[in-house]
Amino acid sequence: MRDTSTVWFHTFGCKANQYDTERMRQELEGRGARTVASPEEATVAVINTCTVTNQADANARHLVRRLRRRYPDLKIVTAGCSTAFREASYRAMPEVDGVVAGHDPGLVAGQLVKLRLASAGPVLGGVLERNQRGTRGWLKVQDGCDRKCSFCATRIARGASISREPAEVVAEAKRLAAVHPELVITGIHIGHYGHDLEPRTTLAALCAEILEHVEVRLRLSSIEATEVDDALLSLLASSGGQLAPHLHVPLQSGSDRVLQLMRRWHTREAYRSRVFEIADRLGDFGLGADIIVGFPGEGDQEFEETRSLVAELPYTYLHVFPYSVRDGTAAASLPDRVPGDVAAERSRTLRDLGVTKGIAYEVSRAGTVADLIAEGSGDRVAGVTGDYLRADLVGPVASGARFAAVLHRKNGRLVAEAPAPAVN
Ligand code: SF4
Repeated sequence: MRDTSTVWFHTFGCKANQYDTERMRQELEGRGARTVASPEEATVAVINTCTVTNQADANARHLVRRLRRRYPDLKIVTAGCSTAFREASYRAMPEVDGVVAGHDPGLVAGQLVKLRLASAGPVLGGVLERNQRGTRGWLKVQDGCDRKCSFCATRIARGASISREPAEVVAEAKRLAAVHPELVITGIHIGHYGHDLEPRTTLAALCAEILEHVEVRLRLSSIEATEVDDALLSLLASSGGQLAPHLHVPLQSGSDRVLQLMRRWHTREAYRSRVFEIADRLGDFGLGADIIVGFPGEGDQEFEETRSLVAELPYTYLHVFPYSVRDGTAAASLPDRVPGDVAAERSRTLRDLGVTKGIAYEVSRAGTVADLIAEGSGDRVAGVTGDYLRADLVGPVASGARFAAVLHRKNGRLVAEAPAPAVN
Protein backbone atom coordinates (compact mmCIF):
# COMPACT_ATOMS: atom_id res chain seq x y z
CA MET A 1 0.00 0.00 0.00
CA ARG A 2 1.23 3.56 -0.73
CA ASP A 3 2.47 5.18 2.51
CA THR A 4 -0.28 7.84 2.51
CA SER A 5 -3.07 7.90 -0.02
CA THR A 6 -4.57 11.27 -0.82
CA VAL A 7 -8.26 11.35 -1.58
CA TRP A 8 -10.30 13.96 -3.42
CA PHE A 9 -14.07 13.78 -2.94
CA HIS A 10 -16.67 15.19 -5.26
CA THR A 11 -20.35 15.07 -4.35
CA PHE A 12 -23.31 15.56 -6.63
CA GLY A 13 -26.84 16.07 -5.35
CA CYS A 14 -28.69 16.48 -2.09
CA LYS A 15 -27.87 16.96 1.58
CA ALA A 16 -28.19 13.22 2.20
CA ASN A 17 -25.48 12.64 -0.42
CA GLN A 18 -23.32 15.36 1.17
CA TYR A 19 -23.66 13.59 4.47
CA ASP A 20 -22.82 10.21 2.92
CA THR A 21 -19.60 11.67 1.53
CA GLU A 22 -18.65 12.82 5.03
CA ARG A 23 -19.09 9.24 6.22
CA MET A 24 -16.87 7.97 3.40
CA ARG A 25 -14.29 10.66 4.26
CA GLN A 26 -14.26 9.65 7.93
CA GLU A 27 -13.91 5.97 7.09
CA LEU A 28 -10.98 6.52 4.71
CA GLU A 29 -9.20 8.96 7.01
CA GLY A 30 -9.60 6.43 9.79
CA ARG A 31 -7.63 4.04 7.60
CA GLY A 32 -4.76 6.45 7.04
CA ALA A 33 -5.86 8.31 3.92
CA ARG A 34 -5.56 12.10 3.73
CA THR A 35 -8.26 14.29 2.17
CA VAL A 36 -7.06 16.89 -0.33
CA ALA A 37 -8.85 19.86 -1.87
CA SER A 38 -8.11 19.19 -5.55
CA PRO A 39 -7.73 16.20 -7.88
CA GLU A 40 -4.17 17.14 -8.92
CA GLU A 41 -2.99 16.47 -5.36
CA ALA A 42 -4.87 13.16 -5.16
CA THR A 43 -3.99 9.52 -5.78
CA VAL A 44 -7.67 8.61 -5.85
CA ALA A 45 -10.92 10.46 -6.56
CA VAL A 46 -14.16 9.31 -4.94
CA ILE A 47 -17.18 10.59 -6.89
CA ASN A 48 -20.47 10.38 -5.00
CA THR A 49 -23.05 10.48 -7.77
CA CYS A 50 -26.72 11.60 -8.03
CA THR A 51 -29.49 10.21 -10.23
CA VAL A 52 -32.34 12.67 -9.75
CA THR A 53 -32.38 13.39 -13.53
CA ASN A 54 -30.82 11.99 -16.71
CA GLN A 55 -28.64 15.10 -16.66
CA ALA A 56 -27.32 14.22 -13.20
CA ASP A 57 -26.17 10.84 -14.53
CA ALA A 58 -24.53 12.52 -17.51
CA ASN A 59 -22.76 15.05 -15.28
CA ALA A 60 -21.12 12.28 -13.26
CA ARG A 61 -19.93 10.38 -16.33
CA HIS A 62 -18.69 13.63 -17.84
CA LEU A 63 -16.63 14.38 -14.72
CA VAL A 64 -15.12 10.88 -14.72
CA ARG A 65 -14.00 11.23 -18.35
CA ARG A 66 -12.63 14.73 -17.76
CA LEU A 67 -10.63 13.56 -14.73
CA ARG A 68 -9.19 10.62 -16.67
CA ARG A 69 -8.11 12.89 -19.52
CA ARG A 70 -6.39 15.36 -17.19
CA TYR A 71 -4.98 12.93 -14.62
CA PRO A 72 -4.11 9.62 -16.33
CA ASP A 73 -2.65 8.15 -13.10
CA LEU A 74 -5.52 9.14 -10.83
CA LYS A 75 -7.59 6.20 -9.57
CA ILE A 76 -11.34 6.84 -9.85
CA VAL A 77 -13.99 5.26 -7.63
CA THR A 78 -17.67 6.01 -8.22
CA ALA A 79 -20.38 5.58 -5.61
CA GLY A 80 -23.84 6.94 -4.88
CA CYS A 81 -27.30 6.95 -6.45
CA SER A 82 -26.38 7.07 -10.14
CA THR A 83 -23.89 4.27 -9.62
CA ALA A 84 -26.58 2.22 -7.86
CA PHE A 85 -29.15 2.97 -10.57
CA ARG A 86 -26.78 2.52 -13.51
CA GLU A 87 -24.18 0.15 -12.07
CA ALA A 88 -23.48 -1.79 -15.27
CA SER A 89 -22.77 1.41 -17.21
CA TYR A 90 -20.14 2.49 -14.64
CA ARG A 91 -18.57 -0.98 -14.60
CA ALA A 92 -18.31 -0.70 -18.40
CA MET A 93 -16.43 2.60 -18.23
CA PRO A 94 -12.68 1.98 -18.75
CA GLU A 95 -11.98 5.22 -16.86
CA VAL A 96 -13.46 3.84 -13.63
CA ASP A 97 -11.24 1.78 -11.28
CA GLY A 98 -13.81 0.98 -8.62
CA VAL A 99 -17.61 0.93 -8.42
CA VAL A 100 -19.75 1.05 -5.28
CA ALA A 101 -23.50 0.71 -6.02
CA GLY A 102 -24.61 2.85 -3.11
CA HIS A 103 -23.20 4.86 -0.23
CA ASP A 104 -21.63 2.32 2.12
CA PRO A 105 -18.36 3.81 3.48
CA GLY A 106 -17.03 0.30 4.18
CA LEU A 107 -17.50 -0.70 0.53
CA VAL A 108 -15.81 2.50 -0.64
CA ALA A 109 -12.88 1.70 1.66
CA GLY A 110 -12.89 -1.84 0.23
CA GLN A 111 -12.32 -0.42 -3.26
CA LEU A 112 -9.30 1.55 -2.01
CA VAL A 113 -7.96 -1.53 -0.27
CA LYS A 114 -8.28 -3.40 -3.59
CA LEU A 115 -6.38 -0.55 -5.26
CA ARG A 116 -3.77 -0.81 -2.46
CA LEU A 117 -4.58 2.72 -1.41
CA ALA A 118 -5.94 2.03 2.07
CA SER A 119 -5.27 -0.43 4.82
CA ALA A 120 -7.66 -3.33 5.23
CA GLY A 121 -9.51 -3.75 8.52
CA PRO A 122 -12.93 -3.67 10.19
CA VAL A 123 -15.35 -0.91 9.18
CA LEU A 124 -14.99 1.96 11.67
CA GLY A 125 -18.67 3.02 11.45
CA GLY A 126 -20.14 4.74 14.53
CA VAL A 127 -21.26 8.37 14.66
CA LEU A 128 -19.85 11.06 12.45
CA GLU A 129 -16.98 12.34 14.55
CA ARG A 130 -15.38 14.66 12.11
CA ASN A 131 -16.44 18.26 11.63
CA GLN A 132 -18.13 18.94 8.35
CA ARG A 133 -17.30 21.90 6.20
CA GLY A 134 -19.62 24.87 6.48
CA THR A 135 -21.52 26.50 9.33
CA ARG A 136 -24.51 24.19 9.06
CA GLY A 137 -24.07 20.46 9.64
CA TRP A 138 -26.05 17.66 8.01
CA LEU A 139 -27.56 15.08 10.36
CA LYS A 140 -28.83 12.13 8.35
CA VAL A 141 -31.46 10.21 10.29
CA GLN A 142 -32.93 7.95 7.64
CA ASP A 143 -32.29 6.53 4.17
CA GLY A 144 -34.45 5.17 1.33
CA CYS A 145 -38.17 5.56 0.67
CA ASP A 146 -41.29 3.35 0.73
CA ARG A 147 -43.29 5.62 -1.57
CA LYS A 148 -43.59 4.94 -5.32
CA CYS A 149 -43.65 8.29 -7.12
CA SER A 150 -43.64 7.50 -10.83
CA PHE A 151 -40.96 10.08 -11.73
CA CYS A 152 -38.48 9.15 -9.01
CA ALA A 153 -35.28 7.14 -9.47
CA THR A 154 -33.93 8.00 -6.03
CA ARG A 155 -36.10 5.45 -4.28
CA ILE A 156 -34.97 2.80 -6.77
CA ALA A 157 -31.33 3.70 -6.13
CA ARG A 158 -31.61 3.91 -2.36
CA GLY A 159 -34.14 1.16 -1.57
CA ALA A 160 -36.64 0.93 1.28
CA SER A 161 -36.84 3.37 4.19
CA ILE A 162 -34.34 2.58 6.96
CA SER A 163 -34.08 4.69 10.12
CA ARG A 164 -31.03 5.15 12.36
CA GLU A 165 -31.43 4.35 16.04
CA PRO A 166 -32.39 7.45 18.06
CA ALA A 167 -29.51 7.00 20.52
CA GLU A 168 -26.96 7.00 17.71
CA VAL A 169 -28.52 10.10 16.14
CA VAL A 170 -28.56 11.96 19.47
CA ALA A 171 -24.92 11.03 20.11
CA GLU A 172 -23.97 12.30 16.65
CA ALA A 173 -25.98 15.48 17.13
CA LYS A 174 -24.09 16.14 20.36
CA ARG A 175 -20.78 15.67 18.58
CA LEU A 176 -21.66 17.84 15.60
CA ALA A 177 -23.30 20.58 17.68
CA ALA A 178 -19.90 21.21 19.23
CA VAL A 179 -18.91 22.65 15.85
CA HIS A 180 -22.14 23.51 14.04
CA PRO A 181 -24.71 25.96 15.56
CA GLU A 182 -27.35 24.47 13.26
CA LEU A 183 -27.96 20.89 12.21
CA VAL A 184 -30.16 20.06 9.22
CA ILE A 185 -32.12 16.85 9.74
CA THR A 186 -31.81 15.07 6.41
CA GLY A 187 -32.56 11.78 4.71
CA ILE A 188 -34.57 10.64 1.70
CA HIS A 189 -38.02 10.50 3.34
CA ILE A 190 -37.67 11.86 6.87
CA GLY A 191 -41.44 11.90 7.42
CA HIS A 192 -41.26 8.12 7.76
CA TYR A 193 -38.47 8.26 10.32
CA GLY A 194 -38.87 5.58 12.97
CA HIS A 195 -41.68 3.66 11.30
CA ASP A 196 -39.35 0.70 10.73
CA LEU A 197 -37.84 0.70 14.24
CA GLU A 198 -38.74 -1.56 17.17
CA PRO A 199 -40.24 0.10 19.16
CA ARG A 200 -41.71 2.29 16.45
CA THR A 201 -41.01 6.01 16.90
CA THR A 202 -41.43 9.27 15.02
CA LEU A 203 -39.50 12.25 13.72
CA ALA A 204 -41.18 14.46 16.32
CA ALA A 205 -40.00 12.21 19.15
CA LEU A 206 -36.47 12.19 17.72
CA CYS A 207 -36.33 15.98 17.38
CA ALA A 208 -37.67 16.42 20.92
CA GLU A 209 -35.03 14.04 22.24
CA ILE A 210 -32.23 15.85 20.42
CA LEU A 211 -33.41 19.24 21.70
CA GLU A 212 -33.63 17.87 25.23
CA HIS A 213 -29.97 16.81 25.19
CA VAL A 214 -28.25 19.11 22.70
CA GLU A 215 -27.96 22.89 22.54
CA VAL A 216 -28.40 23.51 18.79
CA ARG A 217 -30.81 24.89 16.21
CA LEU A 218 -32.39 22.06 14.25
CA ARG A 219 -33.80 22.54 10.76
CA LEU A 220 -35.86 20.01 8.86
CA SER A 221 -34.85 19.37 5.27
CA SER A 222 -37.61 18.30 2.88
CA ILE A 223 -40.68 16.68 4.50
CA GLU A 224 -44.10 15.83 3.05
CA ALA A 225 -46.87 18.17 4.23
CA THR A 226 -49.17 15.27 5.00
CA GLU A 227 -46.46 13.76 7.22
CA VAL A 228 -46.05 16.80 9.48
CA ASP A 229 -47.98 15.23 12.36
CA ASP A 230 -49.50 17.15 15.28
CA ALA A 231 -46.59 16.33 17.60
CA LEU A 232 -44.10 17.77 15.12
CA LEU A 233 -46.29 20.82 14.57
CA SER A 234 -46.48 21.38 18.33
CA LEU A 235 -42.71 21.17 18.61
CA LEU A 236 -42.31 23.66 15.74
CA ALA A 237 -44.72 25.99 17.53
CA SER A 238 -43.32 25.65 21.05
CA SER A 239 -39.55 25.14 20.75
CA GLY A 240 -38.75 28.85 20.76
CA GLY A 241 -36.98 28.50 17.41
CA GLN A 242 -34.82 25.55 18.49
CA LEU A 243 -36.65 23.62 15.80
CA ALA A 244 -36.46 26.25 13.08
CA PRO A 245 -39.89 27.54 11.92
CA HIS A 246 -39.27 26.44 8.35
CA LEU A 247 -40.82 23.68 6.28
CA HIS A 248 -39.92 22.54 2.76
CA VAL A 249 -42.97 20.53 1.67
CA PRO A 250 -42.88 19.13 -1.90
CA LEU A 251 -46.13 19.84 -3.77
CA GLN A 252 -45.03 18.59 -7.21
CA SER A 253 -48.47 19.44 -8.68
CA GLY A 254 -51.72 21.14 -7.63
CA SER A 255 -53.82 18.99 -9.95
CA ASP A 256 -55.36 15.77 -8.62
CA ARG A 257 -55.18 14.22 -12.09
CA VAL A 258 -51.44 14.91 -12.34
CA LEU A 259 -50.85 13.82 -8.73
CA GLN A 260 -52.41 10.47 -9.65
CA LEU A 261 -50.16 10.17 -12.71
CA MET A 262 -47.23 10.93 -10.39
CA ARG A 263 -48.47 8.21 -8.03
CA ARG A 264 -48.48 10.68 -5.16
CA TRP A 265 -50.48 9.44 -2.16
CA HIS A 266 -52.13 12.75 -1.30
CA THR A 267 -54.74 14.96 -2.99
CA ARG A 268 -54.58 18.70 -3.68
CA GLU A 269 -57.03 19.34 -0.83
CA ALA A 270 -55.17 17.14 1.71
CA TYR A 271 -51.99 19.12 1.03
CA ARG A 272 -53.80 22.48 0.98
CA SER A 273 -55.70 21.98 4.24
CA ARG A 274 -52.60 20.65 6.09
CA VAL A 275 -50.55 23.68 5.01
CA PHE A 276 -53.28 26.03 6.24
CA GLU A 277 -53.42 24.20 9.59
CA ILE A 278 -49.65 24.59 9.88
CA ALA A 279 -49.79 28.28 8.92
CA ASP A 280 -52.55 28.97 11.46
CA ARG A 281 -50.42 27.40 14.19
CA LEU A 282 -47.01 28.87 13.31
CA GLY A 283 -47.73 32.39 12.11
CA ASP A 284 -44.43 33.61 10.60
CA PHE A 285 -42.53 30.67 9.17
CA GLY A 286 -40.54 29.81 6.08
CA LEU A 287 -42.49 27.68 3.61
CA GLY A 288 -40.97 26.24 0.47
CA ALA A 289 -41.96 23.59 -2.03
CA ASP A 290 -40.68 21.57 -4.99
CA ILE A 291 -42.97 21.73 -8.01
CA ILE A 292 -42.64 19.84 -11.28
CA VAL A 293 -44.22 21.58 -14.29
CA GLY A 294 -44.80 20.02 -17.69
CA PHE A 295 -45.40 16.53 -16.32
CA PRO A 296 -46.94 14.24 -18.99
CA GLY A 297 -50.68 14.85 -19.02
CA GLU A 298 -50.46 18.36 -17.55
CA GLY A 299 -52.76 20.49 -19.72
CA ASP A 300 -53.58 24.19 -19.29
CA GLN A 301 -56.31 23.42 -16.78
CA GLU A 302 -54.07 21.21 -14.65
CA PHE A 303 -51.35 23.84 -14.68
CA GLU A 304 -53.89 26.50 -13.67
CA GLU A 305 -54.86 24.31 -10.70
CA THR A 306 -51.20 24.31 -9.65
CA ARG A 307 -50.76 28.06 -10.24
CA SER A 308 -53.91 28.99 -8.28
CA LEU A 309 -52.91 26.77 -5.35
CA VAL A 310 -49.45 28.33 -5.27
CA ALA A 311 -51.04 31.78 -5.34
CA GLU A 312 -53.26 30.83 -2.39
CA LEU A 313 -50.68 29.22 -0.07
CA PRO A 314 -48.22 31.22 2.10
CA TYR A 315 -45.05 30.17 0.31
CA THR A 316 -41.92 32.21 0.96
CA TYR A 317 -39.87 30.57 -1.83
CA LEU A 318 -40.26 27.89 -4.49
CA HIS A 319 -38.10 25.36 -6.32
CA VAL A 320 -39.64 24.86 -9.76
CA PHE A 321 -38.42 22.13 -12.12
CA PRO A 322 -39.57 21.46 -15.67
CA TYR A 323 -40.20 17.74 -15.90
CA SER A 324 -37.28 15.83 -17.40
CA VAL A 325 -37.76 12.26 -18.52
CA ARG A 326 -35.99 9.85 -16.16
CA ASP A 327 -35.19 6.60 -17.94
CA GLY A 328 -36.05 3.56 -15.89
CA THR A 329 -39.00 5.21 -14.09
CA ALA A 330 -42.71 4.52 -14.64
CA ALA A 331 -43.33 8.10 -15.76
CA ALA A 332 -40.87 7.72 -18.67
CA SER A 333 -43.47 5.73 -20.60
CA LEU A 334 -46.41 8.06 -19.95
CA PRO A 335 -48.14 9.58 -23.03
CA ASP A 336 -49.11 13.25 -23.54
CA ARG A 337 -45.64 14.77 -23.24
CA VAL A 338 -45.62 18.55 -22.74
CA PRO A 339 -43.53 20.55 -25.26
CA GLY A 340 -40.34 22.06 -23.79
CA ASP A 341 -41.30 25.65 -24.54
CA VAL A 342 -44.65 25.22 -22.79
CA ALA A 343 -42.94 23.71 -19.73
CA ALA A 344 -40.41 26.56 -19.76
CA GLU A 345 -43.19 29.17 -19.86
CA ARG A 346 -44.98 27.48 -16.96
CA SER A 347 -41.72 27.39 -14.97
CA ARG A 348 -41.28 31.13 -15.51
CA THR A 349 -44.83 31.82 -14.34
CA LEU A 350 -44.37 29.89 -11.10
CA ARG A 351 -40.85 31.15 -10.45
CA ASP A 352 -42.04 34.74 -10.80
CA LEU A 353 -44.89 33.98 -8.43
CA GLY A 354 -42.41 32.48 -5.97
CA VAL A 355 -40.20 35.58 -6.09
CA THR A 356 -43.20 37.89 -5.58
CA LYS A 357 -44.36 35.88 -2.57
CA GLY A 358 -40.83 35.84 -1.19
CA ILE A 359 -40.50 39.61 -1.39
CA ALA A 360 -43.92 40.09 0.20
CA TYR A 361 -42.85 37.88 3.10
CA GLU A 362 -39.56 39.76 3.53
CA VAL A 363 -41.46 43.05 3.59
CA SER A 364 -43.80 41.64 6.25
CA ARG A 365 -40.77 40.63 8.36
CA ALA A 366 -39.05 44.01 8.13
CA GLY A 367 -39.06 45.73 11.52
CA THR A 368 -39.47 42.47 13.40
CA VAL A 369 -36.92 40.49 15.40
CA ALA A 370 -35.27 37.44 13.87
CA ASP A 371 -33.17 34.56 15.23
CA LEU A 372 -30.04 34.68 13.06
CA ILE A 373 -26.99 32.48 12.61
CA ALA A 374 -24.03 34.01 10.78
CA GLU A 375 -22.90 31.78 7.95
CA GLY A 376 -20.09 31.88 5.46
CA SER A 377 -16.55 33.16 5.71
CA GLY A 378 -14.48 36.29 5.09
CA ASP A 379 -16.54 39.12 3.58
CA ARG A 380 -19.27 36.70 2.55
CA VAL A 381 -20.83 36.25 6.00
CA ALA A 382 -24.62 36.54 5.95
CA GLY A 383 -27.31 35.84 8.52
CA VAL A 384 -29.77 33.00 8.06
CA THR A 385 -32.97 33.29 10.06
CA GLY A 386 -34.98 30.50 11.58
CA ASP A 387 -37.66 31.04 8.93
CA TYR A 388 -35.02 30.67 6.19
CA LEU A 389 -34.42 34.25 5.15
CA ARG A 390 -30.96 35.55 4.25
CA ALA A 391 -29.92 38.94 5.61
CA ASP A 392 -26.84 41.01 4.93
CA LEU A 393 -25.08 41.66 8.23
CA VAL A 394 -23.91 45.10 9.26
CA GLY A 395 -20.94 45.08 11.63
CA PRO A 396 -18.28 42.49 12.42
CA VAL A 397 -19.57 39.04 13.37
CA ALA A 398 -17.94 35.64 13.54
CA SER A 399 -19.26 32.85 11.34
CA GLY A 400 -21.38 30.58 13.48
CA ALA A 401 -22.51 33.33 15.87
CA ARG A 402 -26.19 33.14 16.81
CA PHE A 403 -28.04 36.28 17.83
CA ALA A 404 -31.37 38.07 17.69
CA ALA A 405 -31.67 41.22 15.63
CA VAL A 406 -34.28 43.41 13.99
CA LEU A 407 -34.63 42.89 10.25
CA HIS A 408 -34.70 45.90 7.97
CA ARG A 409 -35.20 46.09 4.21
CA LYS A 410 -32.75 48.35 2.37
CA ASN A 411 -32.52 48.65 -1.41
CA GLY A 412 -34.60 45.53 -1.85
CA ARG A 413 -32.42 43.46 0.48
CA LEU A 414 -32.84 42.26 4.05
CA VAL A 415 -30.30 43.66 6.48
CA ALA A 416 -29.62 42.96 10.15
CA GLU A 417 -27.41 44.70 12.67
CA ALA A 418 -24.84 42.32 14.11
CA PRO A 419 -24.57 42.54 17.91
CA ALA A 420 -21.86 44.92 19.19
CA PRO A 421 -18.77 42.87 20.09
CA ALA A 422 -18.57 42.23 23.88
CA VAL A 423 -16.26 44.80 25.62
CA ASN A 424 -13.87 42.99 28.02
S1 SF4 B 1 -41.45 10.48 -1.76
FE1 SF4 B 1 -41.51 10.13 -3.94
S2 SF4 B 1 -40.06 11.63 -4.79
FE2 SF4 B 1 -39.61 11.43 -2.61
S3 SF4 B 1 -37.96 9.89 -2.52
FE3 SF4 B 1 -39.94 8.88 -2.21
S4 SF4 B 1 -40.53 8.14 -4.22
FE4 SF4 B 1 -38.94 9.71 -4.51
